[in-house]
Amino acid sequence: MPRTPAVDQECCISCEVCTQVCPDVFVMEGEEEGHGHDHAHGEHKSIVHNPFGAPEATIEEAMDRCPAACIYWVD
Ligand code: SF4
Repeated sequence: MPRTPAVDQECCISCEVCTQVCPDVFVMEGEEEGHGHDHAHGEHKSIVHNPFGAPEATIEEAMDRCPAACIYWVD
């Protein structure tokens, strides 16, 4: 099995960097298509919606650019 990324929800500051670098893997919780939430911007935490949606290098870039360093690999 390839390793998969995960987000530490306690540490995520909702900056949306990872969802911009790697939108096929990370989404802001509640902002997935079909969910009609209307919470204020910045309230959501990043979640992994498709761990295999991008090459590892792209996921690594998101990890490197996460200001809170809360994206990590799970073997
Ligand atoms: S880059 Fe890091 S802090 Fe920013 S939304 Fe993604 S996981 Fe959260």
